Amino acid sequence: MSERKGTISVQTNDIFPIIKKWLYSEHDIFLRELISNATDAITKRAAFARTHNVELPTGKIDVIVNTKEKTVTISDNGVGMTEEEIEKYITQLAFSGAKEFVEKIEQAGEKGSDIIGKFGLGFYSSFMVADKVEVNSLSWQEGAKAASWSCHGDTEYTFSDGTKTEVGTDIVLHINAENEEFLNEWKINETLRKFCDFMPYTISVVNDEKKSEEDYKPSVINEMAPLWKQDPKEIKDEQYLEFFRKLFPMDSEPLFWLHLKVDHPFTLEGILFFPKLNQKMPFQESNIKLYSKQVFVSDNVKHIVPEFLSLLKGVIDSPDIPLNVSRSSLQGDPNVKRISNYVVKKVAEALKKLFNNDREKYQTIWEDTGLFVKYGCVSDDKFDDILRERVIFQGTDDKFQTIAEYKESIPETYAEKLGDKILYFEKDKSDPSLKNILAEEKLSAFIMDDHIDPHFMQHCEMKKSETKPAVQFVSVDSELGNLVASENSTEEDIKVKDLFNKILVGETEVKEGEVEDPSKISIEIQKIKNSTAPAYFKIDEQMKRFAKMAVQMGQNASFPLKKTLVINPGNPLIQNALKISEKGGNDSLVEKICHHVEDLATISSEGLKNDEKEAFLRRTQDLMQELTGHLTQ
Ligand code: ADP
Ligand code: MG
Repeated sequence: MSERKGTISVQTNDIFPIIKKWLYSEHDIFLRELISNATDAITKRAAFARTHNVELPTGKIDVIVNTKEKTVTISDNGVGMTEEEIEKYITQLAFSGAKEFVEKIEQAGEKGSDIIGKFGLGFYSSFMVADKVEVNSLSWQEGAKAASWSCHGDTEYTFSDGTKTEVGTDIVLHINAENEEFLNEWKINETLRKFCDFMPYTISVVNDEKKSEEDYKPSVINEMAPLWKQDPKEIKDEQYLEFFRKLFPMDSEPLFWLHLKVDHPFTLEGILFFPKLNQKMPFQESNIKLYSKQVFVSDNVKHIVPEFLSLLKGVIDSPDIPLNVSRSSLQGDPNVKRISNYVVKKVAEALKKLFNNDREKYQTIWEDTGLFVKYGCVSDDKFDDILRERVIFQGTDDKFQTIAEYKESIPETYAEKLGDKILYFEKDKSDPSLKNILAEEKLSAFIMDDHIDPHFMQHCEMKKSETKPAVQFVSVDSELGNLVASENSTEEDIKVKDLFNKILVGETEVKEGEVEDPSKISIEIQKIKNSTAPAYFKIDEQMKRFAKMAVQMGQNASFPLKKTLVINPGNPLIQNALKISEKGGNDSLVEKICHHVEDLATISSEGLKNDEKEAFLRRTQDLMQELTGHLTQ
């Protein structure tokens, strides 16, 4: 047998130690790399066969485990390689990838481990788990001679005459001592399932020692025609749901989905599902699985799709997503940018279509999609262009409206007064008694939460255009007085104001050199028809925004807000308080009532903080005691 020796030409001699050392943390990627090479080889052979009009055996890949020999062999029936091709592709070209990797690692210094595993190393990743690798191959080309190459994980390699009789390639890994777990069939199965579940050719795990037994059947790993490759017109809803369950077995049913398919100017297929949001589960970044030609690449889509899209779940498969590239360079990759833009646009269009064609469904799923849509509008201009005017809010009248619909629904009497203003009601903070007042006036306010809504409001206020008219959001409490209170105040109103001022505010003058206590309230009188509560708290809109900003910027959450207690002088409780006070002789009771009015307004808005509860309970007991005392006299 003739042997020919060669040397892998590299500047750095320690390339193999680096591969072994640095890739150790994610060594199972060698299987992904070798299987995807096998897949490419089968695809190439099929393409040649088509153009040359020849019959082919069905493409298949066997992963053969031999525990005695301590080998794992990846065997394919693809194009195969001649000796010259092995020389060229394996010892020269493949190494250029490996060299680049080593350079990157060296540049990154101590941080090197961050790059690992995000950098597919192709063929040479096999040296992470093997101390000797053989390539036995027979090229599909007519008259080709079988070739055999072997290398012990150093820069020397040997060619010898090959023995392979069927077209294809066997990569034989002599598994090293530290990686004997890969001689375990279960481990191989598990790793293959992770990476190859949807690969296009049959992948079987074969037990070399048992394969001659009569009823032996190798286990087939993959499902070869994943749903995203199929024609959306032929797929039933149940199939999409089943596919979703397979990918995300712990999840509840998705709300709806979109099937992505594009051929030009890049190729991409995929299915994205809108999940039911699980508020209790921490946000996950691994919702979208990336494939490249049905080979699993990653379930971390960071830098590939914008962050807001990672609320969606599903798969994206594109040959234009490079397997063998580090993540940091993905960010700048023009194809990746185009893919990202495309996905954003498709998702926006799917929602637009649903809005236009099935408003009812759009509304029922809004509870789950709303956060996503608002987040998308705030973070992506293109998405915003399509969806801002389709963002809906539930109003205090329970109806769901867009901003434009809201403006249209304002009664004429208020249209001019409100102008560009849109009333909002803070879900957990606004006083519910204000809802009745609005309802009586046929007005409504958008109910806003404390999470994404402040950002979305600010976004709409700042970014306007022809199609996105100017809006200004104002909270109900800060605007109601301007809107519905009557302006003339009577002598009695002034007396009410003075009474509350005296008891709740006390010394109003700020002495020179002193700063006014910001938590001190002020008193205002508003005569509002149909108001049911004795008083409510009003906070200036600007103030509210400042406070929110302070919280967002991580400052103290208890930013002191200047509050105004708005008294409704027509309320029977207020009138009684005034009467008792004018009668004289019951100052302590009047005082308690005034404090109680304030307490009620606090409870009705933000609520009592834990440390305020005790004092409140004591005040209430005192008040009841005094009142019942009067009644028993
Ligand atoms: P890449 O796959 O990115 O080209 P690899 O290091 O994985 O880099 O492989 C180097 C080259 O070796 C491949 O491009 C291919 O030409 C050749 N090759 C590797 N494995 C096989 C195989 N099983 N059959 C045929 N050719 C192969
Ligand atoms: Mg490869």
